[in-house]
Amino acid sequence: MGEFELIRRYFSPLAGQSRAASLVLGPGDDCAIERVGPGNDLVFSVDTLVEGVHFPAGYNPEHLGWRALAVAASDLAAMGAQPVCFTLALTLPEASPQWLDRFSRGLARASRAFGLELAGGDTTRGPLTLTLQVHGEVPAGGAILRSGATVGDYVCVSGALGEAGAALDYLDTASPSSDQLTVLKRYHSPVPRLELGIALQGVASAAIDISDGLLADLGHILEASAVGAELDSQAVPVSSAVSRLKGREEALRLALEAGDDYELCVTTPPALWEGLPESVRTQLSIIGKVVAGSGIQGVDRVLVAGGYDHFGSK
Ligand code: ADP
Ligand code: MG
Repeated sequence: MGEFELIRRYFSPLAGQSRAASLVLGPGDDCAIERVGPGNDLVFSVDTLVEGVHFPAGYNPEHLGWRALAVAASDLAAMGAQPVCFTLALTLPEASPQWLDRFSRGLARASRAFGLELAGGDTTRGPLTLTLQVHGEVPAGGAILRSGATVGDYVCVSGALGEAGAALDYLDTASPSSDQLTVLKRYHSPVPRLELGIALQGVASAAIDISDGLLADLGHILEASAVGAELDSQAVPVSSAVSRLKGREEALRLALEAGDDYELCVTTPPALWEGLPESVRTQLSIIGKVVAGSGIQGVDRVLVAGGYDHFGSK
C-alpha cells in the first residue's frame, strides 16, 4: 500500500466528520485552511523529517535547521500565504550542546529569512526526528489551491530545476567544484518561493511546490483539477550547472523527475499572465498548457527521441 492509498483508506474518512464550518479546506492540498475571522484565512501545514530517511545520518545540523523550516515554509509559498509562525516538535537521541548550537543557528537564520517566528513546540528523547507546523495567512478565499487549473491555462515553473537532485551525487565530495557547490547549496539551503507565491495570489489558478519532482507534483495539480497538460520539454528550465556536470539529457531528466528543489509549479490563465509585472514573469517559465483529459502529454515523445523513455513503451 502506497502513502496516498494509506491516507485515502484510513484518514480521509475522518475528514469532514464534524463539519466544522470554519474549516475551509481539509486534507489533499499543500496546506489546510481555516477561516479565523471575516476577512482572514489561516493556512497551515505540518512536515516531518526523519534521520536516515529525509536527511543522511550525521547531517550538518546548521543545514538541517535551515532545511527543515524551508521545506515546511514551501507549502505556504504553494498556497500564496504570508508566513506568520511555526512550532517545532524535536525528538533527539541526546542533548548535545554542540549539535543544538549549530541546529538552532541554522533554524534562526531561516526563521529571519522567511519571516516565520517560533511559537512553541515539544522536545522528547528518541531517534532524531523533526516535525514543523507552519502557519500563514491569506485574505479570506485568497489561497491558491491545487484544484483550480482550467483548460487553456499556461503551466509555469519558477527558477531552474534539477539542482537538488544532482547534489545527491556530491554530498561526500571533499573539495567540490564551483558547479558542484551551486547544486549542493540548493540541496542544503533551499529557498521557498514565498514572495512569488504571494505575488501570484489572484493570478495563479493552481499551484504546488516541487518537493517530489515536476512530473509528480504537476500530476497532483492535474488530478485535483481533473484536467491534463501538454508539456514542451524543451521549455523546461534546466539548471546550467547541472547541464555542465551531467550533460543536457540527464539534466533534463533531473529537472522533470528529481525532487527537493522547492520551486513552484503554477497554472495561470493567459489573460492574467499578460497582466503580471515583468519582475514576476521573469521568475517563471511557461512550459506547457492545460488541456482536457488527464495526465501529462508531450514529454515522453521528446525524451524517447533523446534516448530516455519515461513512460515505458507506449
Ligand atoms: P506536501 O508534500 O505538500 O507536504 P504531502 O504529500 O505530505 O504534502 O501530503 C499530501 C496531502 O495528504 C496533504 O494534504 C496532507 O495534509 C495529507 N495527509 C498526509 N498524511 C496524512 C494523514 N496521516 N492524515 C490526514 N491527511 C494526511
Ligand atoms: Mg507541498
